[in-house]
Amino acid sequence: LFVAFEGGDGAGKSTQIRLLGQALVARGQEVLTTREPGGTPVGTAIREVLLHGDHVAPRAEALLFAADRAHHVATVIEPALGQGRTVLTDRYMDSSIAYQAAARGLDAGHVRGLSLWATGGLVPHLTVLLDVDSGTGHERRGDVHDRLESEGRDFHDRVRQGFLDLASAEPDRYLVLDATLPAESLHEQVLTAVTDLAGV
Ligand code: C5P
Repeated sequence: LFVAFEGGDGAGKSTQIRLLGQALVARGQEVLTTREPGGTPVGTAIREVLLHGDHVAPRAEALLFAADRAHHVATVIEPALGQGRTVLTDRYMDSSIAYQAAARGLDAGHVRGLSLWATGGLVPHLTVLLDVDSGTGHERRGDVHDRLESEGRDFHDRVRQGFLDLASAEPDRYLVLDATLPAESLHEQVLTAVTDLAGV
């Protein structure tokens, strides 16, 4: 089973992944938790360029996220799925469409096509979207840590809308949750959706 967590910065993805991972392990599942960008040594180097470079041209940025994802899928996600493990990833291809297309302005069809090519067409069984408005996201993330977090409020509003549009285009693949709800209540909803899907 392959589950992706998506949402703006400060949505609480890492907390939900941790809670879900613990719950699935307690049920006897083998779980791999990973993230993008930076889920591999190659990805860590790419992440450094993406987040701490002065300026990265938009198409170069899209290609770097795609390169990170291609290597991540080939060396981490596919092998784990092949061993029957449940894979939980903090961000996946929907982030590229929300950030590089909806927010940054690249063509969504190109960005999607690039990601499908990079991953050999591997799409999550379930994508959990933790929907957060840009103001709350901003408050929760606190200080700016990287180049992309320092984008303005309208950029983050476009990211949010990009995610919501993706979810409404493919409702069967998405669980959309209000990220301002308490973590425990979000976790219950995520766990119900995953157990329904996996039958565990
Ligand atoms: O989720 P995480 O904080 O690790 O993401 C690193 C940064 O990369 C964030 O600021 C996020 O907004 C940005 N990002 C992006 N495009 C993606 C994925 C992440 O701009 N496709």
